[in-house]
Amino acid sequence: MYFNPDTLAFVDGEFVKADQAQVSSYAQSLHYGYAVFEGIRSYATPAGTQIFKAKEHYERLQYSCKSVGLPLSYSIEEMTEITYRLLELNNLSDAYIRPLVYAGTPNMTLKYASTSNLMIAVWDWGKYLGDQCLRLSISPYQRPNPNAVPIEAKVSGHYVNSIIASSEARGRGFDEALLLDMNGFVAEGPGANFFFEKDGELFTAPPSSILRGITRNTIIDLAREAGINVTEKFFTPDELQGATGAFFTGTAAEVIGITSIDDLVFSTPYQDTLGHVLAERYHALVTGVTIEQNA
Ligand code: PMP
Repeated sequence: MYFNPDTLAFVDGEFVKADQAQVSSYAQSLHYGYAVFEGIRSYATPAGTQIFKAKEHYERLQYSCKSVGLPLSYSIEEMTEITYRLLELNNLSDAYIRPLVYAGTPNMTLKYASTSNLMIAVWDWGKYLGDQCLRLSISPYQRPNPNAVPIEAKVSGHYVNSIIASSEARGRGFDEALLLDMNGFVAEGPGANFFFEKDGELFTAPPSSILRGITRNTIIDLAREAGINVTEKFFTPDELQGATGAFFTGTAAEVIGITSIDDLVFSTPYQDTLGHVLAERYHALVTGVTIEQNA
């Protein structure tokens, strides 16, 4: 699914067969989760293949590297150019793009790496959480303490928290987890930001214990353009009582509706929520097609 015998990946300056890309089992990244990555999408648009917000994603990759002391010698322009070439070589337009910066050298010290590796993979990937609205459950696992790790960096090791929270919720029969922060406020999903709507307005957690999602920012812009009020504030699960709808946002998941959180069922059918309106506007934006043309 991620690659076949013909797939090419970019690894350290070369386009190589994906099934031949290798890493040492002594790599520092593997032992300590010491790597950073991005999740990006490209779309087939009337103007050809377009990577959505490539600059913002590669800026965040640079920021993530800096946060954990991983050197990165590629510029945003170089990485963007390489990604377009990689998409072309793999004949992909609508694709998910996964850049990973890792410390591949055998190294068991707890010190910043002095060199790093860059790999970029591309594959065809539908919406990560599917098309159906989700039933969430509040996770017994909290988001990592932002004073312990650079929470706004997309560090591989942070995703152990996501893996256990998501798997735990699925193990109890839910579709996905919703994580609180260390103070008991609602933060986000394992791989997506959370919004809820009440009285015709949207609310979402402020940057603190969340990844400041690029889709989150896009949705806030689209909502404000549409005259919808968006408030960033801390809120507890109790404050969700009376909410009429909710949704997740993320590059992989795009915009996906939420029907319930544990026993709380949202009163408005998703099709009639602001989330649904914004999902359509998001799709139109990323594909460069107007809503009327899409219909
Ligand atoms: N939160 C977490 C923990 C994530 O992993 C992601 C996916 N990158 C998001 C939020 C959404 O971020 P973005 O919209 O930039 O993909």
